[in-house]
Amino acid sequence: MLKANDPSLSSWLAVPENSDFPIQNIPFGVFLTRDDIITIGTRIGDHAIDLGALHQLGYFKEIPLTDDIFLQDTLNDFISDGKKTWRLVRNRISELFEKNNQELQKNKDHQKIVLFEMDEIEMKLPVQIGDYTDFYSSKEHATNVGKMFRDPENALLPNWLHLPVGYHGRSSSIIPSGTPVRRPYGQTLPKGAEKPVFGPSRLVDFELEMAFITTDANALGEPISVDEAEDYIFGMVLFNDWSARDLQKWEYVPLGPFLAKSFASSISPWIVTLDALEPFRVESPKQDPEPLPYLKQKGNKSFDIQLQVDIKTDDGSVTTVCNTNFKYMYWTMSQQLAHHTINGCKINSGDMMGSGTISGPTPDSYGSMLELSWQGTKEITLKNGSTRKFIADNDTVVMKGHCAKNGVRIGFGEISTKILPAIDLNK
Ligand code: MN
Repeated sequence: MLKANDPSLSSWLAVPENSDFPIQNIPFGVFLTRDDIITIGTRIGDHAIDLGALHQLGYFKEIPLTDDIFLQDTLNDFISDGKKTWRLVRNRISELFEKNNQELQKNKDHQKIVLFEMDEIEMKLPVQIGDYTDFYSSKEHATNVGKMFRDPENALLPNWLHLPVGYHGRSSSIIPSGTPVRRPYGQTLPKGAEKPVFGPSRLVDFELEMAFITTDANALGEPISVDEAEDYIFGMVLFNDWSARDLQKWEYVPLGPFLAKSFASSISPWIVTLDALEPFRVESPKQDPEPLPYLKQKGNKSFDIQLQVDIKTDDGSVTTVCNTNFKYMYWTMSQQLAHHTINGCKINSGDMMGSGTISGPTPDSYGSMLELSWQGTKEITLKNGSTRKFIADNDTVVMKGHCAKNGVRIGFGEISTKILPAIDLNK
């Protein structure tokens, strides 16, 4: 067992009941402090911890780190340092904040420098995302979409069971939780029409996904094996891959998603390490037909992560519209990374890979409004009595995720994003 994952550990910092951030989590993020300083940090309970300040005060002196490794506005360099370093740092943070450790606990002056309340800081994007790839790895989601848009008898396309289908997305529009999104404009083809019309998308949708963040993994031309893939995954975040379904339907042939996806994707700001998720490993769904040898994996490569989507309206009413689990994903992160690099494609530190919409087997576990409203044929009634087929202006979509086992809860916090009306193009 990894030392920092010990369920018996507790911190001298208060951790509220049901917090996503006990001492066993120790996620990594980037935040702006009350003094307008940007720094790399971690979180225990409702405290953000400035790792740059901790390092300057000498608390990491036993670990070989460059002086400015945490005094940066992204985690890319730290992620480049590799798994061994991530582990040493996470273990050291765990040790320092463990309830019997006096080093920092008794030094109130140092605490004033390194500790912040969560409401004093502003979370930023944790990494500079060079490349973003989105997969399509939930069999339930791909089947639902296939049934709606194509042939219910042959819902999955012939390649789907043989490879983790994916496409290259746009990283410039990945934003942290809290950043609002404008309803996008684009072309759509009205039903029965021969020519497209232009205007704001009428079918704005969320996609409940998770994403993993990689370290520098390979040289150009060298694949990463499925067995080694996890060594190059730093951690995971929640991922809302905003989609404009009406734009998507008209534009996606034959090269796949484009403007319907690239207007925004939102992430949760704390990266939970794969190490912290270790106790929550589970088997992934049985694969039939058996994958080709380069995709064949050994051991439990999935994680039991409970996921939830809420729609919050302007009057404050909150309705949970989806409950699902990451463990339903047919293709694992290891298989996605092995497939991504089998042609020699280079993976860099800070690259982000989306899982694809995570849908479960039951109608309440579908990870998009497209599926929940079955392409707009069913209305979803919210707690305040209003109905939705897709996302309305001024709705806030909130995604949450956590793992729980042996009295330990490790969570991701949330992504909260408000959809604003389309901008006025005549201004
Ligand atoms: Mn997606």
